[in-house]
Amino acid sequence: MSKRTLIIGAGGVGNVVAFKCAMNADTFGEITLASRTKSKCDAIAENVKAKTGVAIKTAQVDADSVEELVALIRETEADIVINVALPYQDLTIMDACAACQVDYLDTANYEHPDEAKFEYKEQWARDQLFREQHIMGLLGSGFDPGVTNVFVAYAQKHYFDEIHTIDILDCNAGDHGYPFATNFNPEINLREVSAKGRYWENGEWIETEPMVIKQVWDYPEVGPKDSYLLYHEEMESLVKNIPHLKRIRFFMTFGESYLTHMKVLENVGMLGIEPVEHQGQKIIPIEFLKTLLPDPASLGPRTKGKTNIGVFVKGIKNGEPKTVYIYQVSDHEKCYEEVMSQAVSYTTGVPAMIGAKLMLEKRWYEEGVHNMEEFDPDPFMEELNTQGLPWKVMELDADATLEVKEN
Ligand code: NDP
Repeated sequence: MSKRTLIIGAGGVGNVVAFKCAMNADTFGEITLASRTKSKCDAIAENVKAKTGVAIKTAQVDADSVEELVALIRETEADIVINVALPYQDLTIMDACAACQVDYLDTANYEHPDEAKFEYKEQWARDQLFREQHIMGLLGSGFDPGVTNVFVAYAQKHYFDEIHTIDILDCNAGDHGYPFATNFNPEINLREVSAKGRYWENGEWIETEPMVIKQVWDYPEVGPKDSYLLYHEEMESLVKNIPHLKRIRFFMTFGESYLTHMKVLENVGMLGIEPVEHQGQKIIPIEFLKTLLPDPASLGPRTKGKTNIGVFVKGIKNGEPKTVYIYQVSDHEKCYEEVMSQAVSYTTGVPAMIGAKLMLEKRWYEEGVHNMEEFDPDPFMEELNTQGLPWKVMELDADATLEVKEN
């Protein structure tokens, strides 16, 4: 029976998901792209039609309103909702899916708009509801979270009896030529990097001031880059789902210029999320900053260079210690050539499409709310290779490291 797919959110990631679903129309059937601003959906639909020949429908929706969402899901008769709006909309979209008994997928965990804190608690709390409604929710099916969780599950399945340490390494060596811009939603991005660092070791979370732990990692096909320890959401589920784990950390690369801009913006209060009074009006500084910064979707045609995201894993197999590094390299210009988006949106949108494809094909299907590492990684890994995100595995000596010690 022909399927129907509803994509919510028409930003950088929504653009890639729309393209990739259209390129897999046999699975996704009739596709509708809906967002707050319908004109953005129409522009994407036009590009998708011109490049792939597939016509997709568009609609307007306020995804903060469960009522509007329910009406749209009923009207489109969707079999699955792919949520690539903002993390603030996760709960309303999940609730609408539950009300309509439709499967749900997202790429980022819920964040309250008034509190810069993200965690799975409220989404996991809907597990029972999803089971009762006989539907599935797949959380965090982007790259990180998403592919990084699948890489860990793949390492666990094929290379280790016990995984002891995981370092998730996220490098974006792209250059868009602007003095300062963010590669995905500026508000989400800036909230993430200005938050305290956190990693997990020997059963407890250890908190650090923002960006105080720096290491230089040598990324294949990119080279050595300054990498900073951040909290990142996939650690929360991996800590729960990977037995024997002793430590997990997450590092992301940032250039000096980016960090200097960030520091200045923070010092002058531009990253604030509380409303401030300005000439008789209330404005939220970080939202105003978003208005000033280049739209991430506009970076596509100007960005050159590569991304490399992977997992560096140590543990034991057959009693012997070993190290495995699984990673994926994308080229910004090649991504743009294919779907008119740079690599950060591409590496998020392709896994969102793959997760939804596996759900629709019932190759990954279990009622309730789930994270990526709970499923057999093999079908996902195969799809990555054929859908534009080929990956590599390096089996290394037990004491191997990619970290470059600074003098
Ligand atoms: P953008 O800001 O480019 O796009 C977000 C889209 O959501 C916009 O089209 C926006 O509409 C729409 N939207 C926002 N609020 C509402 C609402 N209330 N109702 C309907 N639509 C709404 O973000 P990105 O495309 O860069 O990111 C999309 C998601 O992907 C985010 O959740 C982000 O956190 C996640 N992400 C995940 C990654 C991963 O690896 N897991 C990496 C990068 C991003 P409008 O155009 O009107 O503003």
